[in-house]
Amino acid sequence: MSQAPATAASVRSARIAAASFLLLTGFPGASAASPDAPLPKQGSTGATSTESLQTSAVPGGIFRFPLPDGADRAHYQGKPVMVHRGQVIVGVAIDTLPGDYEVELSGPGGTARHGFRVVAKTYPEQRITIANRRMVDPLPEDLERIRDERRRQLEKYDLFSNRKLDIVPFAKPVEGATSSPFGRRRILNDQPRSPHSGLDIVAATGTPIRAPAPGRVVLTGDLFFNGNTVFLDHGQGLVTMYCHMNGIDVSEGDEVMRGEVIGQVGATGRVTGAHLHWSVSLNGNRVDPTTVMEMLNGSGL
Ligand SMILES: [Zn+2]
Repeated sequence: MSQAPATAASVRSARIAAASFLLLTGFPGASAASPDAPLPKQGSTGATSTESLQTSAVPGGIFRFPLPDGADRAHYQGKPVMVHRGQVIVGVAIDTLPGDYEVELSGPGGTARHGFRVVAKTYPEQRITIANRRMVDPLPEDLERIRDERRRQLEKYDLFSNRKLDIVPFAKPVEGATSSPFGRRRILNDQPRSPHSGLDIVAATGTPIRAPAPGRVVLTGDLFFNGNTVFLDHGQGLVTMYCHMNGIDVSEGDEVMRGEVIGQVGATGRVTGAHLHWSVSLNGNRVDPTTVMEMLNGSGL
């Protein structure tokens, strides 16, 4: 670590000490106390969890806190946010600038805001050479298709369905080594591109891909960059994407069970070899699938 991050960190902790993380405007019974964070406006604590309360998150990560009494809904940046087993679970976009952010809470008790800090995270860089240059510099006639596919995919990531959540456990869709973790800053054929928005898992062509949790198939297709692709809606803004598939075994509208095979690993679209690219999205933001698995499988949710 160079001196700059250390300085930033000390500035950060000083600012955290001064910040109020819960601004209540109508929740008499609200409780979200942290045993270790200074909360100047904190009233009585009804918190039953012994876990320390999260006060910050990284871009591409998750911010989670207990839903206060009197609230039954949460929004972040204008989009509805998952509430699961008494916890508000917010996906933080990878391009979020460090700073202070708020989650809006509402319900019979009124409205409130719950603040948190986004702290910088530097993801490693990755240089990739793609032999098919059209996949890096698309032809003019590809652009309309690419735009249309992007719009269709963003629309699916923004889904917020009120299906009953059954997301624990949240299983890895394919066993295999990680060839590229979430968040890497990508340089394709010497051109900087968007950070890696998912987890690449290496497996042989034909390896079955299994749904990590029950969900509804909301998109299937052969997309320009992503090749054969499936989107699953698991409810409350949790949407997953599988791409570069060799084959697809499901159709739009299908309901799939946890562990059900949705298709096979392949090398379609923009790839350097067979693998599964798996994206996980919360409230319209792609987040690190590993973080989501750790949270849902490992921390008493
Ligand atoms: Zn990938």
